[in-house]
Amino acid sequence: MIEDLAAIATHATPVLPGDIEAIEAQLGRRPRGLVGIGARCACGAPAVTVTEPRLPDGTPFPTLFYLTLPSVVYGMSRLEAEGCMAELNARLAEDAGLAAGHRAAHADYIERRRLLGDVPEIANVSAGGMPNRVKCLHALAAYSMSVGEGVCPVGDLALRAVAWDPAVCRCGEGSQSAASGAQSAASGGEGGQSVLGRAE
Ligand SMILES: [Zn+2]
Repeated sequence: MIEDLAAIATHATPVLPGDIEAIEAQLGRRPRGLVGIGARCACGAPAVTVTEPRLPDGTPFPTLFYLTLPSVVYGMSRLEAEGCMAELNARLAEDAGLAAGHRAAHADYIERRRLLGDVPEIANVSAGGMPNRVKCLHALAAYSMSVGEGVCPVGDLALRAVAWDPAVCRCGEGSQSAASGAQSAASGGEGGQSVLGRAE
């Protein structure tokens, strides 16, 4: 099982005692079909869940990598609120290299998930809007956090935009600092500055 996890994602690790309770506290519900932790915070807290493609009740579940770490969940929500997805979709339309990388990330996602079994209902479904769109930065960030840089280029961009660093724990930052972050982000958007910056 541990070998399987490594094949699914470089940073994936087995579920440890306390992980399920931690995820329950992060999400406000118990994780279902949990097979591993895709990535962790520097403090060890689960950051991404790896979930069976078919839940115990039989429901197909395409989202192999699901973001749970509150600081990054918040960061992705903020990017989405700032209009980052429209920007990324525009970039996908004009940058053939990025578009090809996004499509490749889609195929790669499905291949990784198939290591946990075939679910015909979602055979060509990945997550986050792949292969051609960006619809959920949380899903793409979770993917990038689990597999490392260079697999999902849009997820990589989003993680860079929130300065995700697996060596830094931000779990202690409460809703107060999160709220003030939203404040400064909202007031700092003047001048047509790109949310993500340019890659070049
Ligand atoms: Zn932490």
